[in-house]
Amino acid sequence: MVVDEDVSVLSTLKQLLSDEGHNVITASGGLEALHLCREYNVHLILLEYSMPGLTGEALVRQVRAFDQEVQIVLQTSGAPELPARQMLHDLEIQGYHDKSEGPEKLLVWVDAALKAFRANRAIRVTRDGLRYILRVTPELHRLQPLDDLMRSILLQAQGLLGLSGAFVASLAKHPELANNAFLAIPDRQKFLVRVGTGRFEGKTWETLESSEKEMVLATAKTGQMHKNSALGIPLLAGDRVVGVIFIELSLDPAVDAELLEIFASQAAIAIENVRLYELATVDDLTQLSTRRHWLHHLENTLRLALRYGHPTSLVMMDIDHFKELNDVHGHLAGDLALASAGRAVKERIRRSDVAGRYGGEEFVITLPHTDSAGAQKLAAYLREGVANLAISWENQALRLTASTGVATVLPIVGHRHAPSEELVSQARKILVRTADDALLRAKQQGRDRIEVAEPITIEAAETVAKREEYDRANT
Ligand code: GH3
Ligand code: MG
Ligand code: MG
Repeated sequence: MVVDEDVSVLSTLKQLLSDEGHNVITASGGLEALHLCREYNVHLILLEYSMPGLTGEALVRQVRAFDQEVQIVLQTSGAPELPARQMLHDLEIQGYHDKSEGPEKLLVWVDAALKAFRANRAIRVTRDGLRYILRVTPELHRLQPLDDLMRSILLQAQGLLGLSGAFVASLAKHPELANNAFLAIPDRQKFLVRVGTGRFEGKTWETLESSEKEMVLATAKTGQMHKNSALGIPLLAGDRVVGVIFIELSLDPAVDAELLEIFASQAAIAIENVRLYELATVDDLTQLSTRRHWLHHLENTLRLALRYGHPTSLVMMDIDHFKELNDVHGHLAGDLALASAGRAVKERIRRSDVAGRYGGEEFVITLPHTDSAGAQKLAAYLREGVANLAISWENQALRLTASTGVATVLPIVGHRHAPSEELVSQARKILVRTADDALLRAKQQGRDRIEVAEPITIEAAETVAKREEYDRANT
């Protein structure tokens, strides 16, 4: 933007700068200039210092109140009131041009100022991007299901790069590979499209275009960002590629590659942590909680139940004659049956219930806030679910039955107290033992049935806890 009260100066400079390839707007006074500054994204102001009305000096101050980025070069004709260096020092301007020095010198100032503008803007974009990453990535690091995490990663990447079609793909399996694992990804490696937005909503690996698949593969194999009309960003946890973010580009991205790498490494660490957490807490075959994680959860449930006076129930289910199924049809058939039974259980419980694989073919389900009658209903529903499975194996339908024990621990009515850890662990042991005893009775009485134990009171648990403490103290 050229600002000068002299219209012949305006038209000469407009011509000169347009010939250099710049977009030029002009203003013949300070107020008009201020108005245009707010309206347009001005990169450089060539400003006549002495103007009537709003002077050059006053204009600089007013522009700086809302725009720190625009470059300002003052122009003077004749002797200025202040020496040039003094003005550079006192005012927030980047250059000073004496009109008598001619157009060549002015063009040097213009080139230098625009170069500085671009450099400043790149720094600002990077800084804004870093701020954004710092603000949003903590959200990635909380414990959450992998699919929720993938969605957050995609939305955050779009926040950084602008909205467009995008998806996150991850390796279908998570092979435990050594360092530089991405080099070991085979050419025909399949990926899993976890989430997609825009035209990638609902896409699968099979429905992607081959050029899109190639981009994902190339990004994963090299561990490097790839760019054409789209951007492929590798998600690297250390040296391991755990996935690829694919984003269509309508414009060249403003943020630089380094920033995207910082973001991608945060996302990859979050994915890796979810994977490690699932490895430790989810049983691979049945997709139910591991024994350890289930026990941990049961203790938490009991701690709350004892504190707030709710009943807690336990259903323990063991597949009947499972050894025989293995012996007749083989171990793989047994594995398939276990996975099917696990799914049948999971489909039939509430979100607040936690099912675990307690042992080989033994499942346990914690039912918070549930009394014995409620637990029996669920046990019957599960028994029916397992009995109705027709697991197809080598042209046969494998059938299962299960025996079930149900146990419940009741709170003391009207008496709420924070339980001691001793009591919590005692209640847990008694509850598991009681369910186990009931299960044993179900087996002894012919299998494919449910046995319900008499509900346990907290007093009983306390008595046992005290007696064990007494025994410990006296031996
Ligand atoms: P019961 O009716 O008394 O429960 O008899 P059962 O044969 O089911 O019980 P038993 O405890 O004698 O045998 C359990 C079998 O479960 C033996 C074991 O090989 C098998 N098993 C345990 N874990 C797995 C597994 O992960 N996969 C397969 N295929 N079999 C398993
Ligand atoms: Mg069994
Ligand atoms: Mg068993």
